[in-house]
Amino acid sequence: MFRKRRSDKPVILITNDDGIHSEGIAALEASLKLIGDVYVVAPESEMSGASHSLTLARPLRIRQIDERHWTVDGTPTDCVTLALNQILAPDIRPDICASGINHGANLGDDASYSGTVAGAMEATILGVPGVAFSLIGEDGSGYDFSHSARIAREVTMKAYTEGLPSGTLLNVNVAPGEPKGVKVTRQGVKSARPVISEHIDPRGKLYYWIGEERNGFKAEGGTDFEATHEGYVSVTPMRADLTNYLVLDELRGWETN
Ligand SMILES: [Mg+2]
Repeated sequence: MFRKRRSDKPVILITNDDGIHSEGIAALEASLKLIGDVYVVAPESEMSGASHSLTLARPLRIRQIDERHWTVDGTPTDCVTLALNQILAPDIRPDICASGINHGANLGDDASYSGTVAGAMEATILGVPGVAFSLIGEDGSGYDFSHSARIAREVTMKAYTEGLPSGTLLNVNVAPGEPKGVKVTRQGVKSARPVISEHIDPRGKLYYWIGEERNGFKAEGGTDFEATHEGYVSVTPMRADLTNYLVLDELRGWETN
């Protein structure tokens, strides 16, 4: 287990993948300030879909905005690594890392593409429990972060006071509107197909946008999709260890001496 801390005020590192100027990170910071000592290290521009990538082929620039805010011209993973090993170290050691609040869901397979989830995962790998928050949008009405910001505060405080099992991060998705409650879920499976749209630029060269056509999700009990579809907050425990323990024994026959 990560070390349990029960009474004092947590030191909280905030990051995201929508960039430091996004509405979601502002809502998360405003809410977590009510319970903790908050530092923000976030990408200077949107890095949605960055997944768990680390920038290695070019230098990174850190820009300090004020005593508690920094931007990095890189990914959420870059931000967390630099926060814990350069920007805040050695004087400030966060008790917990909160990532988000993402503009949009990170459910099912999409969690693996998510920079929001990756920010929390990177913190977890570095020994700081991570929690990722995403708000599911309502068609045509944008994002109202009021409920998700309150839920983020409650979940962050619970993760801090009760601790998380070692190597564990939480992927929290909040249904639009006022959620009915909280369900602990497993990752579901989306029903979608990639759609590549091809266009021609003003110089006559082809370019592409990657998109997808959504067709709901695989109907199975206990998934993140199901919980949020029914109007609940979904809390999925995840880990950076990608080992599929269920098939380890089955594959032993592949071993050679
Ligand atoms: Mg995003």
